[in-house]
Amino acid sequence: MPLLERITRLFGDGRDTDGGAARDRKSLEEASMEPSHVCQSCGKEYFENPSMNIRTCGNCGGVKVEPV
Ligand SMILES: [Zn+2]
Repeated sequence: MPLLERITRLFGDGRDTDGGAARDRKSLEEASMEPSHVCQSCGKEYFENPSMNIRTCGNCGGVKVEPV
């Protein structure tokens, strides 16, 4: 696999590569995951390390992003 493609996949955009099994497995994991944080202002869900503190919402700019 070319290096650039590997880097792209690391950042989460693997939709145009390989197809098939790898993508199916990835979407399954995402479907079963609970969000770690939710913005109390706009409801945006974040999937981060639960111990991480998110100070501001990247969606609405609010400061009430709280652990679930
Ligand atoms: Zn928000």
